[in-house]
Amino acid sequence: MIKLYRFLKQYKAYIGVIILLLFTQVLSDLYLPMLMADIVDKGLANKDINYILKIGGFMLLIAAGGTGCAIMATYLSSKTAVGFGRILREKIFAKVESFSLHEFDKLGTATLITRTTNDVTQIQQVSVLILSMMVTAPLTCVGGVIMALQQDKSLAWVLVVAIPILFIVIGVTLKRGLPLFKVMQEKIDKLNLVLREKLTGIRVVRAFNRIEKERVRFDVANADLMNNAIQVNVIMAVLMPAMMLIMNLTTVALIWFGALRIDDGTMQIGSLLAFIQYATQILFSLLMLVMLFIMVPRAQVSAVRINEVLETELDIIDPQKPKPANSKRGFVEFKEVSFRYPGADQTALSNITFSAKPGELTAIIGGTGSGKSTLINLITRFYDVESGSVLVDGVDVREMSQKALRAKIGFVPQKTVLFSGTIAENIKYGKEDATREEIEHAAQVAQATEFVSEIEAGFDHQIAQGGTNVSGGQKQRLSIARALIRKAEIYIFDDSFSALDFKTDAKLRAALKPEIADATVFIIAQSVSTVRDADRIIVLDDGQISGMGTHKELLKTCKVYREIVASQLSEEELA
Ligand code: ADP
Ligand code: MG
Repeated sequence: MIKLYRFLKQYKAYIGVIILLLFTQVLSDLYLPMLMADIVDKGLANKDINYILKIGGFMLLIAAGGTGCAIMATYLSSKTAVGFGRILREKIFAKVESFSLHEFDKLGTATLITRTTNDVTQIQQVSVLILSMMVTAPLTCVGGVIMALQQDKSLAWVLVVAIPILFIVIGVTLKRGLPLFKVMQEKIDKLNLVLREKLTGIRVVRAFNRIEKERVRFDVANADLMNNAIQVNVIMAVLMPAMMLIMNLTTVALIWFGALRIDDGTMQIGSLLAFIQYATQILFSLLMLVMLFIMVPRAQVSAVRINEVLETELDIIDPQKPKPANSKRGFVEFKEVSFRYPGADQTALSNITFSAKPGELTAIIGGTGSGKSTLINLITRFYDVESGSVLVDGVDVREMSQKALRAKIGFVPQKTVLFSGTIAENIKYGKEDATREEIEHAAQVAQATEFVSEIEAGFDHQIAQGGTNVSGGQKQRLSIARALIRKAEIYIFDDSFSALDFKTDAKLRAALKPEIADATVFIIAQSVSTVRDADRIIVLDDGQISGMGTHKELLKTCKVYREIVASQLSEEELA
């Protein structure tokens, strides 16, 4: 909580004004009962209309001033709190953007979303309360006591009895309530997690007839949250009437004992009325303080969760002094690279050494789980190596800025991701200032023109969230176009032709060749026909290179490669 407040600094001036406004408001609130006592005891008692009108008018003025201050203060504190919320969301978002895949794996998407939205809202709400009450409540409490004592000292004992009772009631409820408040956020997290999984996996859920099971899973999380919320609300529902009861009993006691004193002439009616108002103000301000005590721990939980995100140590950070770009273009070199996923016992890659030059096509082939995607994730520095080094253009990727590194690379990931927006916008993602011609050309090479022109809206066709309204092959072609448009030094195609039919695959590769002839190209593929023309084929097996060379060389030297080929090509093709 305290740590988050460093972001409130920008609102220093606002907060100063708010405190000033609230101070004025409290003073006017405290002044009014005193004037009222004067009207009753001096004006009414002497039937002095002029005095009543004079003081009454003065009271109206003060009340209007106080209300004005209150409105301004509320406006400013809302503005401050909402602005604070915006800054927090911005910071979290910026931080999450700089996360490496490892940090995403660690925290999980669902909780990152809750933390950015719900937790920030919690903080925001509490900030409004804190901003308004932190000044008003203590000031009213202390001021009220002083003013009440000025009216009459002997009635003070009623307050001395009432306040401890109030605290006991509050203490008991808080003891039961606080733990419930604290688990609230976790339950919201859980609900989010279930909902997200269910929605993203809706096709699988349906196909496997798991709708009932998933519904139960959701219901459990939902009911859990509900029960917690109900318990919290029950406590609040009991607390409020209990408070009112104490307050009203206090008033009754004051009227009772005040009346006795008025009877024997030691107190005036106006004084009693004023005293009652002060007593109400005092008890009410205590209640406000308690509300703070309830809200702050709840926000504290949110604050801790937000701080956890903001303070996550990044695995992959830019070097202090990135090495300046040199004149080399498109050189990729692996030097005895080993890599292990965080927390895994086995290395996903071990002892990988090779190098690739511009104009060369490097193909990577191997069974699923052999480490192909992992290998290229090291070129883009989605992960850092455990030992050895990955050099791009002669510089270790850890010594470059990530931005500079990735600007060199046109990447088609294995799992194609499109964003909601038009087809053109999705292709332009690779190069912001791309012209219409460039977009159309990239689409042409990626063999996407044909199906795009069949759609009525063409390039302005809206892609649904997650790209669900285009087929897998169409998605792949759009994501290839997206990578091609950026004229990169290095192109990486991670199993990017897998959803294409043979004819399209062949056409695409033919069109691709002149486009990327000067670049360094990596193609991960399953089929031998895709890789056989490569300048270098790397055969991966269980994270190790079991053979490297051209198709012809590998047929002679590499047993694993021969097996792959044998499983795909007929005898005569082999010969
Ligand atoms: P390929 O692309 O060749 O099919 P991958 O490179 O994706 O294989 O995976 C290689 C190995 O690393 C597999 O054993 C897989 O289980 C493991 N692996 C992949 N991604 C992760 C991850 N994010 N965390 C932990 N292990 C992973
Ligand atoms: Mg893969």
